[in-house]
Amino acid sequence: MTVPNDNFAFLLPVILLIFGCTFLVVGRWGSNQAKSWGIGYLLGAAAFSVPLALVRLPVQAQTLTADALFLASFYFYGGALLIRFGRPSFTIVRRTVALVAFAANVYAVIVAESLSAELIGNDLACIILLALPIALSVGRSQHIRDKALLTVAFAIVLETLVRDIILIVLLPLPGGVDDFTTSRYDFYMQVGASILGLLLALTALAAVALDTLELYRDAADRDHLTGLLNRRGFERAVADRHPRKKTGAIVICDIDYFKQVNDKFGHAMGDRVILGLAELLKERLPASAFAARFGGEEFVVFLPAVTPTEAEQFANTSRLVFANIERREMPPDYKITASFGVALAEDDDRSIDDQIRRADAALYAAKEAGRNRVMVAGQPPQDVTTPRIVGGR
Ligand code: GH3
Ligand code: MG
Ligand code: MG
Repeated sequence: MTVPNDNFAFLLPVILLIFGCTFLVVGRWGSNQAKSWGIGYLLGAAAFSVPLALVRLPVQAQTLTADALFLASFYFYGGALLIRFGRPSFTIVRRTVALVAFAANVYAVIVAESLSAELIGNDLACIILLALPIALSVGRSQHIRDKALLTVAFAIVLETLVRDIILIVLLPLPGGVDDFTTSRYDFYMQVGASILGLLLALTALAAVALDTLELYRDAADRDHLTGLLNRRGFERAVADRHPRKKTGAIVICDIDYFKQVNDKFGHAMGDRVILGLAELLKERLPASAFAARFGGEEFVVFLPAVTPTEAEQFANTSRLVFANIERREMPPDYKITASFGVALAEDDDRSIDDQIRRADAALYAAKEAGRNRVMVAGQPPQDVTTPRIVGGR
């Protein structure tokens, strides 16, 4: 009994099929990128199973079917990259490349009966379908996962190019398409797809999974109403960006008599007032500072590397801008103000919490002293500026 030498030919299509299905399952969570990878890998699985599944068809029909499936799979891999990196889809250009290549393949297989021409034509088109999205995506992200993805995709382009140059241009290739499945070229193509194709699938899957994790982590760290960090996000930002650095200022602010705003104008209006203060703080944040909503109408800002005077100025200008926001929905004499507490880092702080406690105490003192003012922890109260002064930025 003879043992066929392509005993494991089914393995690659099956693995590609598993990846394709996995991507499609992930895609059901709303990722168009994952859907595109999924379709690409299913088409790749179909392309590699042509010699097994369509064994009874004439070899020309098998070749052209596999070619069309490979072109389509590369079209979708490229599409997935373009989606990932937020690039235009270039649908017309990419479809034209695929269709022109397929027409050239029909000519090479049926008319010219040249295996070399067919392989070169198809591979060049696949290279373009992948290289174009790579070129459009390079430099668009600093994430390691994105760089890894582009590197693996580029390795596929390079491997295809080198394979064509060595096995078609430099070394003699059997003339007809019938000899393809026993050729050296087919062997190395399967090796390339097994290693780089799977590496691409794993990298893309990891990238999509990490995106999703990041999305949920980010959502869990943010306040729904204002888009600012919540307390958990603030603590994480401090830990990530300023670990054990005893520098910077904490500014806490709280809207004055906010309960009355809700009572007089309704909760929805109250939300808009909260949003107004959040927007104001966001706009005025210096580089690498961050702000959080700690709950209700209370906000905490971390200002790294500022002098006490700069921190107080930030608080005071924010106070004045907030007090002078025009609110057409309210009577002109109804002014909404906020009080501010500022605290600077001290050498014997055990954590940022000590600094937050001092800023909170300063805020409490500002409320006690009559509201609409800034108090700096450890400093005597300043003269109150009237709330009607128009504050610049
Ligand atoms: P003070 O000047 O002492 O800060 O008085 P205040 O009325 O601002 O403070 P108090 O803590 O008594 O009231 C805060 C109110 O904020 C009570 C609560 O109903 C309201 N509040 C908390 N979260 C939200 C929110 O998300 N939206 C709205 N509209 N109101 C909120
Ligand atoms: Mg309040
Ligand atoms: Mg409050």
